[in-house]
Amino acid sequence: MVIVFMAEITYTPKGHTGYTCEVVSAGGNSMRIARLQLDGHPVVHGDDALSANMSLVRRLDAYADNELAYRRARQDNRKAALRKSADLHRKIVIDLADLIDDVGDKAEIGWCSGCLAKREHRWVQRRSLTPDAYLCDGCGAATTPCLWPRCAHFALRKPGVVQLGKYCAEHQHVIPGFEKLDTKLDALDDYGSWLEFESRHAKRITVLTGGLVGGALIVAPLFFAAAPAIGGAIGASSGLSGAAATSHGLALLGGGAITTGGFGMAGGTAVVTAAGAGLGGALGASVTTAYAGDDRSFSIELLERGEGPPVVFANGFLSEDKSGWGEWEPIIRNRYPDSTVYRLHWGAKEQRDLRALFAREAGGKVAISGLVKAAGRATQLALKKVGLIGSALTVAELAKNPWWVARTRANMTGAVLADLIARTDTNNFVLVGHSLGARVMLSAAQALGSRRSSPQLESVHLLGAAVNAGHDLTNVGAAVSDRVWNYWSSNDGTLRKLYRGAQFGERAAGAEGFTTSHPNVKNRNVSQQVAGHNKVVPNVTLR
Ligand SMILES: [Zn+2]
Ligand SMILES: [Zn+2]
Repeated sequence: MVIVFMAEITYTPKGHTGYTCEVVSAGGNSMRIARLQLDGHPVVHGDDALSANMSLVRRLDAYADNELAYRRARQDNRKAALRKSADLHRKIVIDLADLIDDVGDKAEIGWCSGCLAKREHRWVQRRSLTPDAYLCDGCGAATTPCLWPRCAHFALRKPGVVQLGKYCAEHQHVIPGFEKLDTKLDALDDYGSWLEFESRHAKRITVLTGGLVGGALIVAPLFFAAAPAIGGAIGASSGLSGAAATSHGLALLGGGAITTGGFGMAGGTAVVTAAGAGLGGALGASVTTAYAGDDRSFSIELLERGEGPPVVFANGFLSEDKSGWGEWEPIIRNRYPDSTVYRLHWGAKEQRDLRALFAREAGGKVAISGLVKAAGRATQLALKKVGLIGSALTVAELAKNPWWVARTRANMTGAVLADLIARTDTNNFVLVGHSLGARVMLSAAQALGSRRSSPQLESVHLLGAAVNAGHDLTNVGAAVSDRVWNYWSSNDGTLRKLYRGAQFGERAAGAEGFTTSHPNVKNRNVSQQVAGHNKVVPNVTLR
């Protein structure tokens, strides 16, 4: 006789692109998830006890997605990464399904480190568990009281009967504090005190050396660690789930090149858009915390106080990051004489790496080949083949390419700026950016524009924008009450080279204008006044 003592999972392929996957708990509860094609929505059937648990549904889907990708993968290192990821999700599914069997009525209310909300945690009545296990009524994750003495928050519990205790998100400094998640800011430069941690750090996490997220190997930079949280949170609203949602989250942060096994995430163009829902709230807080901790150069410098619409400007990679106005003073004072003016500092390291690459290549006719070389041959091939979206690149591969890292950093900075703006009650911000700084501003506008609320931006000025000419402008246009102005010059050789070299034939909005359109987005041809990438700022008059 076979004694069933833990949940079992059965994975059944359906053709080359689909599957059904079933979990049966030790207590006999079952749930089945079916996906018939790669981009199809998973369909869930089964006992309420299991299918009502979002965490279990997501994990089972993630397991099955990774299993499918594993079976389709060709390269050894990729197969290994996907196997590891599938096994991790599988372990969590088994653990959760069995915990659900034993959940009782006794419950406690506390902040959850999984969904960052104050929820009911139901106690799992099983004596052998160390430490005690609970299930969050919100996200369904297995939780356990924080290990910190007298802390009333709930930490995420690792799978397994006997485990080490864990610290909550506040004590791990994932967030500045549970009570501060929805904090409003009076002005943008108040962000520093908001980000100060409420609690002491339980166990300082210095370097993120490894780990698997949805099949992508994580090495650096740290902000990628926020991806699964974002992916998971977006999952419910975007219709994606599991690994697909995690890929989506990674794509939001990284620009669309990372997927598990070639699943297209709903439009790699999305960048940070879907993050909109989380801005100004819990999710935004965790992203901002991770980001601000990772980029030491990130700061918002107050240059001027005034009554006019607050202006935030940012530079790109070719100018050294010094403090103060730089060359911006005349054009900003001229257009916004009474405004509060902030300078956004960001990504000093990434911009320095990119600058070094340019300096090395300057003068020669090598173009930007170094950008590509740095990424390695396999990456080049992958990039060429799939045009960067839906490719099989891992974060590790991307992290070696200075252009992609800087570009990701820019997207991320934009998301953080959007989160901070969403925390204010101001609705007439003006964003101004040059080069990759324009990408920062575009990404902020895109994130803000994805929220279903009235615009917090008056206008956005993009100068020599290091952004695809074919960028989807829907959310960008929706973010402003006035206009997005794109000042482009056909004499911008740097952007042309950069885009030809690193973006494989894409065109830059700063060198040719946007080819896509939205009624609120206007191209301004400034080729007459602007002789090159570094000549944009002093020679443009803001509209
Ligand atoms: Zn929760
Ligand atoms: Zn705690």
